[in-house]
Amino acid sequence: MNKDYLQIEVEKNYPGFQLVAEFTVSEGEFFSLVGPSGCGKTTLLRLISGLEQPDRGRIILDGWDVTAVSPADRKIGLVFQDYALFPHLTVAGNIEYGLKVRRLPVEQRRARVEELLALFEIEGLKNRNIQELSGGERQRVALARALAPQPCLLLMDEPFAALDYGIRRRLRRELRELQERLGFTTIFVTHQQEEALSLSARLAVMKNGRIMQIGTAAEVYCNPVHSFVAEFLGDANLIPCEVQSTDAGITITFDEATVFTMPGSKQKPGSYLLMIRPEDVMITDHTPLFTGELVTLEYLGHGYYLEVKTTNGLLLKMVTGKEEQELVKGRWLPLTFRSGAPKLIPIKAQVST
Ligand code: ATP
Repeated sequence: MNKDYLQIEVEKNYPGFQLVAEFTVSEGEFFSLVGPSGCGKTTLLRLISGLEQPDRGRIILDGWDVTAVSPADRKIGLVFQDYALFPHLTVAGNIEYGLKVRRLPVEQRRARVEELLALFEIEGLKNRNIQELSGGERQRVALARALAPQPCLLLMDEPFAALDYGIRRRLRRELRELQERLGFTTIFVTHQQEEALSLSARLAVMKNGRIMQIGTAAEVYCNPVHSFVAEFLGDANLIPCEVQSTDAGITITFDEATVFTMPGSKQKPGSYLLMIRPEDVMITDHTPLFTGELVTLEYLGHGYYLEVKTTNGLLLKMVTGKEEQELVKGRWLPLTFRSGAPKLIPIKAQVST
């Protein structure tokens, strides 16, 4: 597998906005760009597709410098949120379109269209007009059309955003299964953290035209290097603390009364944010790290969301399972962190955002 299949090093300037990005995507990888509205995801995708030109930098696709190559010649498939299907063509006509442009002989075109209709299980829709399709069916056709000419790279910009939650989840799973089976390299844009975490082999978290972190879903969720990444990807407690190193590991001080040790850990002494996810804060029968009053209690169906005001002035977010039956507001709770779960984010990493 070529680890540098797609190499991107670009800068793009608009009035009041600058995008600077540098990363590589491996051959056959499912890579997502995720971040809030306006962070530059679509601009980056448009640069890769050739719909926009970078002010500086270059884009290498499978060893080929495509920076100055027209979008049509880049061998890239595109899928957008609004499907962008041709309304005057049938389903088969839409899927065939890219093959006609590439002047494939008619027999080969027909065979490829049949193959894609079967792959997406839409054989029954073959002769339908686009207006006669549901949103989910349209997106299947859009995907089949993009994949028909066997592109080197598939770019998808919020493809499921217009669909209902149920169909979105189903299409997401289908897309991932198909991508794993056929191995097409994919860049997927979304502003939904859940979608990015569940789909991607790796993802880049973006903010204000910059990539804040790149990693696997587990890496960016469990080991964020920045408080923005921690909070964008889910609920997080971020607690200011001081770290000292000892022979056995490190000690973390929240205030004079609360000291937490992490044996075996190595970290430079200094000021940090301790990041702990709500699911890793636990009620304990042993010596608690914090004690606090339960001030918020929300039933989630599969458990409870809690906020606990600690004696040292923190508001800790946590979630518990259904088994916690005796939770009532005002109750005092002894709390600790799941072993190995807290992560330290250097305070210095927070500047410039
Ligand atoms: P969303 O999730 O809302 O689609 P995004 O992360 O995809 O957002 P972009 O569409 O890439 O963000 O836009 C990034 C910034 O660049 C925005 O501030 C936008 O206004 C600006 N921008 C995008 N295209 C142009 C353009 N052609 N001319 C000027 N500014 C632009």
